[in-house]
Amino acid sequence: MKTVLLVRMGEIFLKGDNRNFFIKALVRNLRKALEGTDCTLELTQGRIFLRDIRDMDEVIRRATRVFGVHSVSPVVECEKDMEVICARAIELMENCTGTFKCVARRADKRFPLDSMQINEEVGYRVLSAHPGLKVDVHKPEHELSIEIRERAYLYVEKIPAVGGMPVGTGGKAMLLLSGGIDSPVAGYMIAKRGVQLHCIHYHSFPFTSEQAKQKVIDLARLLSAYAGPIRLHIVPFTEIQQELYQKCPDSQLTVLMRRFMMRIAERVARRTRCQALVTGESIGQVASQTMDGLTCTNAVCSLPVFRPLIGFDKTEIMDYAERIGTYETSILPYEDCCTIFTPRHPQTKPRVDQLEQSETLLDGEALIERALSGIEVVDIRP
Ligand code: ATP
Ligand code: MG
Repeated sequence: MKTVLLVRMGEIFLKGDNRNFFIKALVRNLRKALEGTDCTLELTQGRIFLRDIRDMDEVIRRATRVFGVHSVSPVVECEKDMEVICARAIELMENCTGTFKCVARRADKRFPLDSMQINEEVGYRVLSAHPGLKVDVHKPEHELSIEIRERAYLYVEKIPAVGGMPVGTGGKAMLLLSGGIDSPVAGYMIAKRGVQLHCIHYHSFPFTSEQAKQKVIDLARLLSAYAGPIRLHIVPFTEIQQELYQKCPDSQLTVLMRRFMMRIAERVARRTRCQALVTGESIGQVASQTMDGLTCTNAVCSLPVFRPLIGFDKTEIMDYAERIGTYETSILPYEDCCTIFTPRHPQTKPRVDQLEQSETLLDGEALIERALSGIEVVDIRP
């Protein structure tokens, strides 16, 4: 039975002098993700091994979701003895059909056979034991890897993981998280690059329900399975929406609302030392996401605003959401604050000067202060 899992790091290997910084973060995040499963983590020669695993499926499920992990392989570990290696290779290939090749790597140069010789010997023995198999060195269906290090390691399966960079190595950002399909995917993409996430959500109770809020908490929890612990800031937004609704032109409502969201997000971001804002916008998806709309939304921020979905079609975003497991929750039918006060004919070419003119009709600063003072903080763990 395989009780050892080899964990491969992807891009970390591109790193020069700070490689250790990245590896340390990855090890820390892996340990956290594996809490509660029985296994030990070992770092040797720039490779991570998880040993003494009881529930291999669960460990694989968790490890392949940790950003910075490129792929994993359940491995058979044995003595550096050709008899033993061949016997284990035969067992390992038992359920394989079709074509295969052996790929030996001899890190321990004292081992008497070189990699070509290991390939030949193991290949020959596997073929003799499993006559149904065939060797194909160009496009094999299975690759039997044999690594000779402190011990011998054999594996066939290579399970892809999420890739990316370890969370905590890329700074901190504030994600504007709605209950929709897009923003969780945007958050996933930024966290994948090693960025720690805070989330901010605007809710308009009683126009939006408790369930709508719970849905956002659930989405943040789904994200945290990848991104690690997330602090979610829930902002009361009813007063701002009502004021806008009563005092400002109907056609400007969405963009004005978005500007307030960005202003508040930026304040909270600065307090929590986030260095950027993240949204799920994509050019042209809705009226407020035209080039002019985005310009007007941006005009109120000085922090950089990252929009990782900017060039994605809705269908592509939906596929992505399905893959990361947020789609089912995102499509639950609870209303969002944007859908309630949506203008019938939103402007597609808003102008900053006109929006600023409308905003003079409100006491924006007081509205923002009151919203900030009503924030509810929820700490989300995977
Ligand atoms: P999503 O699917 O994420 O809801 P959307 O297509 O509905 O996006 P909009 O409603 O125009 O687009 O919102 C654009 C972006 O603004 C969202 O991706 C999100 O980042 C942010 N946003 C919208 N509504 C909220 C909200 N209630 N709380 C926090 N952020 C929000
Ligand atoms: Mg939305």
